[in-house]
Amino acid sequence: MKNGNTCIKCDSVDIRKIPGKYPFSEQTNMAKISAFKKIYVTRFVCVSCGYSEEWIEKGEDLEYLRKNAEQPEDFSNFV
Ligand SMILES: [Zn+2]
Repeated sequence: MKNGNTCIKCDSVDIRKIPGKYPFSEQTNMAKISAFKKIYVTRFVCVSCGYSEEWIEKGEDLEYLRKNAEQPEDFSNFV
């Protein structure tokens, strides 16, 4: 949905982009990251069926996570 404009669930082409208002780091328990940097997540929503995807769009933010975020062995608590 980020790279195309078709919903992967219902094939609708009516996708809306909603910029993140709250930093990614405040929605999770990534305390180490929130202490240093605010990372915003953009949501892409299909307004036909309600399916949504969240993306970190800035390359610099992804680079930051690559360097600073831990790789948890257990993803069960990671939303
Ligand atoms: Zn849809």
